Amino acid sequence: DTIGDNLDRTLAAFGDRDALVERATGRRWTYRELAAEVDLLARGLLAAGIGKGDRVGIWSPNRAEWIFTQYATAKIGAILVNINPAYRVHELEYVLNQAGVRLLVAAKAFKTSDYAGMIEEVRPTCGALRRVVLLDTPQWTELLESGNGVGQDRLAAAQAALSADDPINIQYTSGTTGFPKGATLSHHNILNNGFFVGELCGYTEADRICIPVPFYHCFGMVMGNLAATSHGACMVIPAPAFEPKATLAAVQAEGCTSLYGVPTMFIAELAEDDFDSYDLSTLRTGIMAGSPCPVEVMKQVIERMGMHEVTICYGMTETSPVSTQTRADDSLDLRVSTVGRAHPHIEVKIVDPATGLTVPRGVQGELCTRGYSVMLGYWEQPDKTAEAIDAARWMHTGDLAVMDEQGYVGITGRIKDMVIRGGENIYPREIEEFLYGHPDILDAQVIGVPDQKYGEELMAWVRMRPGAEPLTAERVREFCTGKLAHYKIPRYVHVVDEFPMTVTGKIRKVEMRERAVGILG
Ligand code: ATP
Ligand code: MG
Repeated sequence: DTIGDNLDRTLAAFGDRDALVERATGRRWTYRELAAEVDLLARGLLAAGIGKGDRVGIWSPNRAEWIFTQYATAKIGAILVNINPAYRVHELEYVLNQAGVRLLVAAKAFKTSDYAGMIEEVRPTCGALRRVVLLDTPQWTELLESGNGVGQDRLAAAQAALSADDPINIQYTSGTTGFPKGATLSHHNILNNGFFVGELCGYTEADRICIPVPFYHCFGMVMGNLAATSHGACMVIPAPAFEPKATLAAVQAEGCTSLYGVPTMFIAELAEDDFDSYDLSTLRTGIMAGSPCPVEVMKQVIERMGMHEVTICYGMTETSPVSTQTRADDSLDLRVSTVGRAHPHIEVKIVDPATGLTVPRGVQGELCTRGYSVMLGYWEQPDKTAEAIDAARWMHTGDLAVMDEQGYVGITGRIKDMVIRGGENIYPREIEEFLYGHPDILDAQVIGVPDQKYGEELMAWVRMRPGAEPLTAERVREFCTGKLAHYKIPRYVHVVDEFPMTVTGKIRKVEMRERAVGILG
């Protein structure tokens, strides 16, 4: 099936069930209504001369039109280019040109982002860009109305001409470790992955999924939207961009059964002063993914939010994204200490990065994955593709992991984040977990900074709990002494209000390292 065929199937089975709720405006759609919006927009795109293989950009915070555009492009085989809502002119120009975007759907503005103004600024240098359609303006209504002039038979013919292996989506990676790369994905890649994520969450048409994670990222559009639509479940958009209170309120008002987030989002929700006043009793499951989850947070998500079946997913944009996931019946211990086992139809192995040979169980190495989910390649970057995917189609993730006898995988860090101090390999994750146990510390991140004597030294950035005294380096060292090996004790401590983050809520250690150089002088 293509994504369009799959949506038609859901429409036939669950036409009258809720498909989508947008909390900011109170708008809601059943599957019948959603499919009508999608088809009208798809016909409008055909009227605009967009067809199979053409790139259509979407640049907007989360809202219903994002989803219409996602499915309308999939129906006609246009390649959707997800553009990060946090981008500014420089990155926008890069993506529009790199992907050769022909038609761009964009929000006019959001908070401090003047999308319309930025588009005007880059337009003269984006040769491929023929048409810009701003939401909430006559440009959008005109595009939809032009769809009325195109018959449903023309749409059906366009849809029938597609193959599930066609490229359908270019998703840029989070940019955690450097400049974002455009992963090119097929219907087959992302539809199957969304479907299996939904299977492992046990979704049926009775589920209502609260999606505060950005649609521009695979967490939102695949693990959220495609998992929902392939099971007839309902998508709930709590707010255009993440807000802890709006998320909790959406779960309560819509009776959500599932809630998504990266760990920092759950931390923020749990820290809300009025957290206990929300009725979250409908929550059954959810997904935590994107970065390592502190054990304490996971326990609170289960106990205080009632997400007893919450699963952890591990994956990356390049693999559609999910490669491993915990199962609802895995013990609590496995759900806090591992990212689960391989997903259906996906192979996982851990190799020694130096030799490429599979390491014994329990030994750390680079995680590699293979299967239907591996992207077609980085868009027009064959060299980068060849570095990431080897001749046997194994994706080299750049993540460090261990696998136990039963196949459970533990992520131990990123090759790029590993700190080498005086010849000792140090994995910041271990120290972060330890610091997290300090009663005054809300969140901690550890990086390596250049050091003349040891090559690298450890620096911890910490966020204090409200009301707690900022910690000094001495106090942190006292806390670690006797409990961590001496070389793992951070030499420097820096107290911050926020960490530099990607829009997907991941901490940008590259930026921390850059800033650390200035801080240390
Ligand atoms: P870039 O590739 O641009 O540097 P990125 O790797 O963060 O950014 P994504 O594709 O969004 O971009 O994220 C994939 C990465 O996120 C994985 O390679 C892994 O490092 C991390 N990750 C994902 N899920 C988990 C998890 N459950 N636990 C720990 N780390 C995770
Ligand atoms: Mg990556």
